[in-house]
Amino acid sequence: MSFPSWATLVKSLFLLVYFVKIFFAGTQLQTLPLGHRFPMSKYELLKTRVSQEMAFMDLIESKPATEGELALVHSPSYIDQVFSGTLPEAVQKAIGFPWSLGMVDRARCSAGATIQAARQALHEGISANLAGGTHHAYADQGGGFCVFNDVAVATRLLQVEHHRSSAEPFNVAIVDLDVHQGNGSARIFREDETVFTLSLHGAKNFPFEKECSDLDVELPDGTQDEAYLSALAQALQAMSSRFKPNFVFYLAGADPYKGDRLGRLSLSMDGLRSRDEAVFLWAREQGLPLAFVMAGGYGHDMQETAQIQMNTFASAYASWLLWQSQRFSHEAN
Ligand SMILES: [Zn+2]
Repeated sequence: MSFPSWATLVKSLFLLVYFVKIFFAGTQLQTLPLGHRFPMSKYELLKTRVSQEMAFMDLIESKPATEGELALVHSPSYIDQVFSGTLPEAVQKAIGFPWSLGMVDRARCSAGATIQAARQALHEGISANLAGGTHHAYADQGGGFCVFNDVAVATRLLQVEHHRSSAEPFNVAIVDLDVHQGNGSARIFREDETVFTLSLHGAKNFPFEKECSDLDVELPDGTQDEAYLSALAQALQAMSSRFKPNFVFYLAGADPYKGDRLGRLSLSMDGLRSRDEAVFLWAREQGLPLAFVMAGGYGHDMQETAQIQMNTFASAYASWLLWQSQRFSHEAN
């Protein structure tokens, strides 16, 4: 036992008022036709609320992902088709957005925000993208409002950057708790033993042809808090027994909520908060850096969807403070 140094004490005090950096893609980038189903307004609402109500979050506008970064996951021909607006009609329809330069810019900036959040989390323990979680995008095809798979791109980039200085594996766990299966991520990393894909999703929900994640937990329509939280605890335990991650991506979808238009599950707001806390606790107990992304949320009342995601930010900040205090007490001893 030794007393912490002055430098450690000063740094601890600094961290108490330190900001968690959150990255966002400009919401003004992409304009959708009037009445379009995608809830673009949610992102502006969330950004406004975070900036007004969470003084400890530092919002930073992201840079677009480069063609080279995207090519770590996506095929050059698909990237070229997206950039130039020459996607086959069926693929454009599967994505669900009309093509525009704004669609391309937003997709690139959202992937860029997840990349920046991942790098930030690696050094500071936690960070987030105010959007992202576009997990239906495959290497050569988008779908379900997803153009590029931001988490897959950031995963590969972290691994490449790690291998510049180390030959040791860099294992990444993708904990996907959006109510829809992370089919694109599952397919991209199907043969990759350094990435573990875990997906808890509605059995009867989109996508109707599912892929094989490393661990899939299919939930019946109407699943409520207790059953969901029990399934999550078992899934995290099962993953831990099979895989030792160095980093975690968490897709904190708001769409398992009972008031979601597309969710089909029946979690309460408290249940979703407990879900977030369970994931943050699991990562913190193992000292794992974690980047989280918003993924889906299509509430009948968009204020409720934003509130669920605000709760995720609050839980993340509480967890981050504990993570930092553990780190400092460890350094001081
Ligand atoms: Zn979803």
